[in-house]
Amino acid sequence: MTMPKYLGGLGFRDIELFNLSLLARQVWRVLVQPSTLSARILQAVYFPQGSLMRLPYVARNFDPPSKASKLIIQSMGQWDVGKLEENFIPMDVQAIRSIPIGIVNLGDYCAWHFEKSGLFTVRSCYRLLVSTRKVREDWLEERPTSSSLKSVKSWTKLWKVKVPSKVRVFARRLAQHSLPTGDVLQHRHMSKTSVCAICHADNDSWRHSLIDCTMAHCVWALADDQLTEHLCISVCPDAREWIFHLIDTTSHAEFTQILLTLWAIWLARRKAIHESIFLSPLSTHSFVIKLMAELQVDPDKTPTPVRTMPKPLPARWIPPPAGMFKINVDGGVAKTTNKGAFAAVCCHEKGNYYGSSARVFEAITDPPTLEALAICEALSLAKDLNIQKICVASDAQVVIEGLLHGTRCCYSPVLRE
Ligand SMILES: [Zn+2]
Repeated sequence: MTMPKYLGGLGFRDIELFNLSLLARQVWRVLVQPSTLSARILQAVYFPQGSLMRLPYVARNFDPPSKASKLIIQSMGQWDVGKLEENFIPMDVQAIRSIPIGIVNLGDYCAWHFEKSGLFTVRSCYRLLVSTRKVREDWLEERPTSSSLKSVKSWTKLWKVKVPSKVRVFARRLAQHSLPTGDVLQHRHMSKTSVCAICHADNDSWRHSLIDCTMAHCVWALADDQLTEHLCISVCPDAREWIFHLIDTTSHAEFTQILLTLWAIWLARRKAIHESIFLSPLSTHSFVIKLMAELQVDPDKTPTPVRTMPKPLPARWIPPPAGMFKINVDGGVAKTTNKGAFAAVCCHEKGNYYGSSARVFEAITDPPTLEALAICEALSLAKDLNIQKICVASDAQVVIEGLLHGTRCCYSPVLRE
């Protein structure tokens, strides 16, 4: 229940992890504002002699270099790969090599990796703690990881389906295998057998209850043929994978109908088992149709998606102001290899080619970093071509905002250049 909704939980806050995030904010304040009264008190109480950053780190060498500058080939402005491999494990070597080296003399600063602005937020820290705990639990219990990007997207989609919230909660319980079907009750030692209470089939699983049981069969027989066929083709034993597959392969209206029908079948089943009230398949089907109509009638609750065509981008090149040169820059990342590249093309105000430059980087695969390096390269190109009046065009909004307002990120030294 304390998992965020995008990881399949109900989004209740985990107080222990939230407290840890608040504590992390105190640490951040001590790091970035060490002269404040609160920071000085904390230092006097908890680490009077030492520093907060004296943490053990994973290194191969027991006598690692004390300064980062010893790991850089100064003449070439590059990381010394040999020394990195000597001192760090491969995963860290990869991370260090992806940090671009600036040429301006910039003092050390603390930056928070999990926000684009580089500034610490309790929200991002809490998310980090929750997802780390989830990954660790999945690994310990040998479950396939449920915090993958695809899974996060599917959960987000599931929570956004325009159905009453009780139907969404039902879908979540189904995906988490927590609906009280026969097999779940037996697994929880709440029942001696997993026999279906309606048709007395041997194993009452989620699939049996909602699709294969005679009661469910009769309801699905009244629904749209193509939709029913699509449901039955997918024989995935895992309910979560099955629902995620349906989200991806059906339209919003079809998926809404599937969810409502599953929910209605489940309600009818509960009524039959616990209250001995048997609803006819036709009344269950009519209930779904009525609910569908109600949902579409109310425009506030179910806005019909407006399919707008994407506006065509201007294909032409926009010339710079009179008397200036324009340098267009762009960066890109290789799909298969661990490489990034960028290019800068300089044109005269009438669009005549004037000069260009391109570079390939090993290990740097972060798009904003490549875009920042591309802008830096544009300035070097202008210097090489001996032109002064230039305007640089980039499509990376994050980098441009970083340039205008300042940011604490791994490419900040490049922006300072
Ligand atoms: Zn049954």
